[in-house]
Amino acid sequence: MSIRVIKNFINGEFTAGESGKTYDVRTPVDNSIIAEVHEAGQAEVDAAVLAARDAMVGPWGSMTVDQRSALLNKVADRIDERFEEFLEAECLDTGKPRSLASHIDIPRGAANFRMFADVIKNTPTESFRLDTPDGTGAVNIGHRGPKGVIAVISPWNLPLLLMTWKVGPALACGNTVVVKPSEETPLTTTLLGEVMNECGVPAGVYNVVHGFGPDSAGAFLTAHPDVDAITFTGETRTGEIITQSAAIGLRDVSMECGGKNAGIVFADCDMDKALEGTMRSVFVNCGQVCLGTERMYVERSIFDEFVRRLAELAADLTLGAPDNPDANMGPLISKEHQEKVLSYYKLAAEEGATVVLGGGVPDMGSELADGAWVEPTIWTGLDDNARVIREEIFGPCCHIRPFDTEQEVIALTNDNDYGLATAIWTENSGRAIRVAEKIDVGIAWVNSWFLRDLRTAFGGAKQSGMGREGGVHSLEFYTELKNICIKL
Ligand code: NAD
Repeated sequence: MSIRVIKNFINGEFTAGESGKTYDVRTPVDNSIIAEVHEAGQAEVDAAVLAARDAMVGPWGSMTVDQRSALLNKVADRIDERFEEFLEAECLDTGKPRSLASHIDIPRGAANFRMFADVIKNTPTESFRLDTPDGTGAVNIGHRGPKGVIAVISPWNLPLLLMTWKVGPALACGNTVVVKPSEETPLTTTLLGEVMNECGVPAGVYNVVHGFGPDSAGAFLTAHPDVDAITFTGETRTGEIITQSAAIGLRDVSMECGGKNAGIVFADCDMDKALEGTMRSVFVNCGQVCLGTERMYVERSIFDEFVRRLAELAADLTLGAPDNPDANMGPLISKEHQEKVLSYYKLAAEEGATVVLGGGVPDMGSELADGAWVEPTIWTGLDDNARVIREEIFGPCCHIRPFDTEQEVIALTNDNDYGLATAIWTENSGRAIRVAEKIDVGIAWVNSWFLRDLRTAFGGAKQSGMGREGGVHSLEFYTELKNICIKL
């Protein structure tokens, strides 16, 4: 396979830039090199931010909302037309099954543009009539304008989907963006640059700089004084560093960070539904979903049956390369991440877990032997203070613990630093609402998981994030709300 050369995308042009630095990207399927990426230095980041500023006050800023919306719909259509190329690029970078990326990553990437093109056209602002002592009165009109140049820092687990989740609303609101995709997954973000040009999006509206975090494009971009706001998805620790950087100049941040999500299964659940949903929430995308479940709490009377049946289903997962039509689980993102996940597999044994399933590296045959593969893994028997139960692993694994009462399971679920999502399985709707209301998370699913209505608020409580995006909530972050007061 030929190695792709990936350049920065600045002011509508692909450029290697002046830094002279490059790095290799490897596919986690077999660890072979798939791309050589030109890393952006300070000069490239400066150029990208300047291009974004010029486009904001220039062609993009002077377009009507209708014109901008039409262009974003065109971008979505073009992603659909080039679906196969986006799919191939995403699978190459991440190693995920084509069946998964073709159902989630790429269609949702396009949907994010359509959705926010629509939201911006249909969201009203407030207006108040004010009485004044002279009797003539005044009217107040809320006005939403763009915030400016937005830095978008995105992760590797759902590269196109999570990046467009930010770029879509940012552009719809009239901002311009400089995107720093994960160093692990630069391909689809770069391909989107071609699409922007093909659709006639003005140069400088969408820019891409490649590189790492510290002392590289990520840090240069988030520290840049001409960046007005930063939207980030990734680890909580990185979010803290970026928030510190954003404090200089009091720039706004939106933080979508890590999770250690609990699944709660009550004895009155529909067991088949709970098992099907838990299989997805633990193992989909090889467990690399921020919303995924790594802590399961199951009511004691059905605990043994649930553990046995989940293990049987997980044992049936087929691991394989993206083009294997039978594969429903791919590798982890990298050898480095494989090492991290395997260190938790080892730790679980040291902390006294009973290994119900997996716990090691599968035999994938000689061709895939160098890939970042790990076995789907289920544990029981850990103490509530075990690190395996408290820390985000981001792999295809979960611990299952029995519980006896509603109060107990609420306390167990909330006893964690993170607060992103939860999935509650019960056929008792009163209980479902009662428990959902008491769990400290941004998203509580009942009898489902990852069922996303893009109009709804998305974000995390506690150390899982700051702020909400989605539907009109994205406008809170991507616009500056001004009040215009007119004395009559
Ligand atoms: P990460 O924090 O390592 O990296 C995310 C991005 O930040 C990358 O582009 C990286 O290059 C950049 N970065 C790293 N250090 C930086 C710095 N000092 N300054 C500026 N940029 C920097 O996260 P990851 O490993 O790519 O992604 C996995 C994490 O993302 C998990 O914790 C997962 O839970 C989280 N995540 C959260 C959500 C959500 O919506 N809450 C969604 C997906 C993933």
